[in-house]
Amino acid sequence: MSVFISGATGYIARHIVGQLLDQDYKVIGTCRTQAKADQLMKQFGNNPNLVMEIVEDISKLDAFDSVIQKHSKEIKYVLHTASPFFFDTTDFVKDLLVPAVNGTKGILQSIKQYAADSVERVVVTSSYAAVFDMDRENEKDLVLTEESWNPDSWEHCQRNPVAAYCGSKKFAEQAAWEFLKENKDTVKFKLATVNPVYVFGPQKFDADVSQKLNTSCEIVNQLVHATPDTDLTPLSFYGGFIDVRDVAKAHVLAIQKDELLGQRLILSEGRFNTQDILDVLNKDFPTLKGKLPVGKPGTGTVVCDTGATIDNSKSKKLLGFQFRSLEETIDDTASQILKHEGNL
Ligand code: NDP
Repeated sequence: MSVFISGATGYIARHIVGQLLDQDYKVIGTCRTQAKADQLMKQFGNNPNLVMEIVEDISKLDAFDSVIQKHSKEIKYVLHTASPFFFDTTDFVKDLLVPAVNGTKGILQSIKQYAADSVERVVVTSSYAAVFDMDRENEKDLVLTEESWNPDSWEHCQRNPVAAYCGSKKFAEQAAWEFLKENKDTVKFKLATVNPVYVFGPQKFDADVSQKLNTSCEIVNQLVHATPDTDLTPLSFYGGFIDVRDVAKAHVLAIQKDELLGQRLILSEGRFNTQDILDVLNKDFPTLKGKLPVGKPGTGTVVCDTGATIDNSKSKKLLGFQFRSLEETIDDTASQILKHEGNL
């Protein structure tokens, strides 16, 4: 039996595919082009347990029909990771909201139509963006848990690209839970969602490092390349962090552990801000010494402590493994970038 994974060439998905193959699962991955499929197959050494299929645009509700139909008898688990994660657009509905929501509705509908009897578990890669309240992130008294939902409406989330992305994750996740509620008598599968905060950590393969990285790792990439004169205002981030290898592990566990069925799993190992990342880079990378902004070392967590609390103790307990620290995830992200540039 196989694991079907959408968006298999994405940053997080490559790690998931790697962990699945390491555990001898058969994997059917989708991506948008044959060139990307060929590259991924090559990166995984043409592992016979990996098959790639092309799904061009998940905005189309029937995008997954033919591949799910083709593999209907083999698929036991579905991991839906594909979703747009970028902010440089002004057409929020077309570029963010529709692909996120239709991608989720579409893949679930295809399962219902062609693989209702074989698919037992579906894991949707949602986000902390579907959990938090962007307008209240700085409120010390606010506690966010697995029960919390981003309160934005379809219209209000379109006030800026970040809010629109967050809305896309909320409406997509909501669509998944609603689909299951409406179709619980027709489909066999149980659902879990994985809701990570900002994901850092190395690309699965060193060759995946490029000048511009995926949206979350680009935060680290830009700080690695900052200078003491860089205006840090546009690079001032504040959020939760989690390592990509832990995110991948949570997806794999979600198809393995019964306790995770029906759960929203918030993946966060704590808060960070730009200062925290700079402190790690300045401390751990001799080749960057004197080249980076220093800021006010040691003040990062103080600032972070003023924000809303992410209480994901339930998810941590259910998953039952220790997440990587900020230092480890930043060290591994930065050293891969510097190695690629011959500057480690
Ligand atoms: P990537 O951009 O690397 O991966 C996104 C994947 O979705 C890619 O495979 C991409 O294909 C595919 N995709 C996007 N839009 C479409 C579309 N319209 N049609 C078909 N495929 C599409 O980002 P991540 O790996 O970081 O993100 C993976 C998932 O994790 C997403 O659902 C994201 O929302 C979620 N997430 C990520 C976090 C992070 O910090 N990285 C935090 C929380 C959640 P292509 O490569 O061809 O563009």
